[in-house]
Amino acid sequence: MARFALKRSHIIATAAMTALVAACATSSGQAAPPVAGPAPVPAPETGPINYASSGHAGMDTWRAAFSEKALAAGHDRETVESVLAGISPLELWLGSSFQPARTGIEDQAEFAKPIWDYLRVPMSDSRIRSGAARLQDSPGLFDALEAAYGVDREAIVAIWGMETSFGAVKGDFDAPNVLANMAVEGRRTSLAERELLALMTILGEGHAERHHLTAGWAGAMGHTQFMPSTYLAHAQDFDGDGKKDVWNSEADALASTAAYLASSGYAHNQPWGIEVLAKTGFDFGLADGHERRIETWMAAGLVPARGGSFDTHGANYAELWLPAGAEGPKYLLFNNFKAFKSYNNADSYAFAVGLSGDAMGGQRGPVASWPTHLTPLTVSQIRTLQAALNAQGFDAGTVDGIPGRKTKGALQAFQKSKGLVADGYPTEQALALVLEETSAGVAASTN
Ligand code: CA
Repeated sequence: MARFALKRSHIIATAAMTALVAACATSSGQAAPPVAGPAPVPAPETGPINYASSGHAGMDTWRAAFSEKALAAGHDRETVESVLAGISPLELWLGSSFQPARTGIEDQAEFAKPIWDYLRVPMSDSRIRSGAARLQDSPGLFDALEAAYGVDREAIVAIWGMETSFGAVKGDFDAPNVLANMAVEGRRTSLAERELLALMTILGEGHAERHHLTAGWAGAMGHTQFMPSTYLAHAQDFDGDGKKDVWNSEADALASTAAYLASSGYAHNQPWGIEVLAKTGFDFGLADGHERRIETWMAAGLVPARGGSFDTHGANYAELWLPAGAEGPKYLLFNNFKAFKSYNNADSYAFAVGLSGDAMGGQRGPVASWPTHLTPLTVSQIRTLQAALNAQGFDAGTVDGIPGRKTKGALQAFQKSKGLVADGYPTEQALALVLEETSAGVAASTN
């Protein structure tokens, strides 16, 4: 399926390029008058590149200015023109029905959904079976990747599953075009321009042809969705054909992911996380984002949920994380978890990578069940919670609707002050208690 989809997009892209080349030839192709004697050496073309209008005035204006920047940055005239000539406004980015939430720019789904809902797709039977099959089908490739980069195969295959369902959904947008649309849309202009310059470097280095540059809606490319700048920093040619082909070569794409994780501090054989059980009366205020030594956690009353002893292969420090509060599964998180977050800076994403990788390797978790009777807060309820905590002097930080570590810390401090289990898990039940206290405070100050 993926191959067919890709080929179809190539045909479309190639047809567009042919039309484009024809258009350029027409616009700039004045026939030279016949001259006697030796043919004159044509002067190198200079000055602004003339583009046919994209049909969007703002896009044309942006392109004229950015094109100059790209030339000034030293990119080859032909490359700049090939990247920017075919751009056109996309409904997704610049259409009248543009919705920030639809593009994901302000999508806080990873925060608003209860973690057990978020995990449904990454932990689905079909995803886990596919990942396990990939591991079994290519043991030689994964052996070589582990040896070359020191990154465990489960982590690599889990990210491949998370990013594109193992190459099934690589995206068939034109990478230059989505980045140009992002630049014109305006909120991420400098990022988009930086990525476009990186694309020009990729083309200049000869790793891909112009029509190979397919991407998802935000410009991430290939099997494991590399942004162009990430590609420049980390992409690998693992099949040895001289090209770093993250679009079509599984070996190159997976090696690129391994190289990226390795550069983010991933350590071979160390756990990303270990599920734990806590003794009665355990102080969940210790789930405060601070890393402590394993010995400290053992002394405080944590044991591995699967029994036995902590087997960390040299990972000495961990933080305690309660993805669904004190009633749900509890994890000690290690350095490798942070390496996963370099791919996507959300705890839920890194957790899904770790859990699904383990499951693909044959060990499904968590052992404890999710507290589905609790109702996590919506984004607007989180804002209410943050404002109420701030009003009571518990510093929840910016009122942004994102229950980050600061919000959890403030809620924990509130819970502690009331003698409650201080797990910082923002549920409707917790919000009700905080609001009760706020109104009590208001009542006391007005009486
Ligand atoms: Ca290659």
